[in-house]
Amino acid sequence: MYCSPWQRFRTPKYVRLIHWRPMEHKMRQDKLRECIDAAHFDAFLVSHLPNIRYLCGFTGSAGLLLVEERGSTFFSDSRYDTQAHEEVTGAKLVIGRKSPLELLGEFLRRRRKKASIGIEAEHFTLAEKKRLQKFLPSLVRLKDAHSTVERLRLVKDSEELARIREAVALGARLFERALEVLRAGVSETEVAAEMELLARRAGADKMSFETIIASGPRSALPHGRASAQPISPAGFVVCDFGVILAGYCSDQTRTVWVGAVSDDARRVYDAVRQAQQAAIDAVRPGVTAGEVDSTARKVLQKAGLAKHFTHSTGHGVGLEIHEAPRIAAGQKGVLEPGMVITIEPGVYFPGKWGVRIEDMLAVTPTGCEVLTPTGKDFIAV
Ligand code: ZN
Ligand code: ZN
Repeated sequence: MYCSPWQRFRTPKYVRLIHWRPMEHKMRQDKLRECIDAAHFDAFLVSHLPNIRYLCGFTGSAGLLLVEERGSTFFSDSRYDTQAHEEVTGAKLVIGRKSPLELLGEFLRRRRKKASIGIEAEHFTLAEKKRLQKFLPSLVRLKDAHSTVERLRLVKDSEELARIREAVALGARLFERALEVLRAGVSETEVAAEMELLARRAGADKMSFETIIASGPRSALPHGRASAQPISPAGFVVCDFGVILAGYCSDQTRTVWVGAVSDDARRVYDAVRQAQQAAIDAVRPGVTAGEVDSTARKVLQKAGLAKHFTHSTGHGVGLEIHEAPRIAAGQKGVLEPGMVITIEPGVYFPGKWGVRIEDMLAVTPTGCEVLTPTGKDFIAV
């Protein structure tokens, strides 16, 4: 009997991940309240959607969450009435036929109470700030706050780690599918399409970024997303891909060789692999992100390749594909158990080819756990 490659994913195993336990939202909001207190705000306005999802579970595209000492209130427009009632926990709902910003403005104006409210300076736009101030000329002072919820999100709780593991496991299966179809002459987009179809059939919300299948000279582009170009008869193909499953992202890169193998290709691949392993070995609590980055760079320096490593070593992953901490030169942030990061050194020769190897890791109390299960031996197809 014909068995389609995605049939093995037709299992309800991801369904249980769809709903958070309400307890988690309450705990997260309480941690935010400690930050609100420390900053001497009366309230904190959360406008960045991934932060809203983290704190109360809402997955829609329009909403605001006001967190105060005595409780939280979530504002959204009537399109999200049913969804907000289903998803939001740990907050009262204010839903109306107006924008969330107008609803919030009315809510605060009705109270006639002075307040200083922290806003997410990286996300709340100047236009939104002006509009809100128009509603509340003298009552409310808006104070810029930076990365407040993002700092809470740095360390993942057990529910988040469970979701990330599932996303990484699904992501890794996409590479197996890629190897089944990746050949000289097949278009990059065709390989990407097979991977993306598998992801969606398995229940992925979407891809965590545009799938990168970059062959031949395009493999030297660190962000060479799949094009209609056929895969070159000889050279590296960088495959960098990830899924979002139940809200959480995966991110993985493997580089495969097409055609007759050259010594040069093997030498460069081995150097990148050693640099990646050295950085993984350096990951443990107490080490700075900058130290992990320089560990990878030193290995490539010894191989005479340091100047071809043109980006940072890694980044945090969670509800967003790129989040804190940045694993980059000079980053003083210290790694802590529960952080989830990538380690992804790469070496690029413009006009020729490039190599990158990327895994996702969880920092543990004694070191780290590599979450990505895929092997890293040199593969030639
Ligand atoms: Zn990646
Ligand atoms: Zn990455």
